[in-house]
Amino acid sequence: MNTRRILVVGIDGVRLDLLPSLHTPRLDEVAAAGFLGRVEIDAATPTMSGPCWATIVTGVSVAKHGIWGNRFDGHRLDVFPDFTTRLAAEHGRRTLAIGGWTPMFLAREGGPLFTAPSRLSYIAPTADTPEGWEDCDQAVADEAARVLATIPDLDAAFVYFGAVDETAHFLGCGPEYRSSAETADRRLGQVLDALRRRPGYAEEEWTVIVVTDHGHRDEGGHGGRSEEVVTAWIAACGPDIPAGPAPAGLRHADVAAHAYSALGIAPDPHWSLDGQPFTAAAVPA
Ligand SMILES: [Zn+2]
Repeated sequence: MNTRRILVVGIDGVRLDLLPSLHTPRLDEVAAAGFLGRVEIDAATPTMSGPCWATIVTGVSVAKHGIWGNRFDGHRLDVFPDFTTRLAAEHGRRTLAIGGWTPMFLAREGGPLFTAPSRLSYIAPTADTPEGWEDCDQAVADEAARVLATIPDLDAAFVYFGAVDETAHFLGCGPEYRSSAETADRRLGQVLDALRRRPGYAEEEWTVIVVTDHGHRDEGGHGGRSEEVVTAWIAACGPDIPAGPAPAGLRHADVAAHAYSALGIAPDPHWSLDGQPFTAAAVPA
């Protein structure tokens, strides 16, 4: 029986420079057990959600997955699938992807990004507003927690929260944004607590990765190459991750690469992953 498991929680649009002044105890808990490190979106990648999330979950660059914006038409996910799809299709693992951003989960706007995980849960925001997205993210957290706590047969999961980004777009990076980021941390905590309630938790070895895709300008909005926009971050902990400083040169593509590694799966060279496991990234090649 495989005891290794992986959970990736994606929180859209959380600025690294604001984290120290926010109350995010659950993210801090992951960082303290492993690391929290800066990721710079590479120059070839548009600083938009679509391309960044596609790189995070496929482990390959935009030139390969072909998602250049927030419409996903023309993608090459058949060749470069997300990790929940590949693990299910090629490795017999049971996987979950859940969230509320349409092109990630539905065959709309050129999607879905998650083409065929074992379980797929899409919960539509009731309105494209900060409030609508907060309700959506809460429903996502509730459903993710329910599945994670009760379904033994689950090896890998991706959970997406979008309200922080939506709040920045509507209201800028002020008090509402900070509050939304702190709420996202409570939802992260809800999901982490659900893991610990799993019937088999004592025998399982979970790796947890928390990641954001891009930052925001003070007034809200991204795109371009300003420092607060190109700066993203990854926090992770797990059996292969020593607590301490973040690996040097962290990249978004490392998330999927580490997901395979954490499950004991060596990438096939034909996958041509552009990322590498976090522990390998610590060792200069
Ligand atoms: Zn985004």
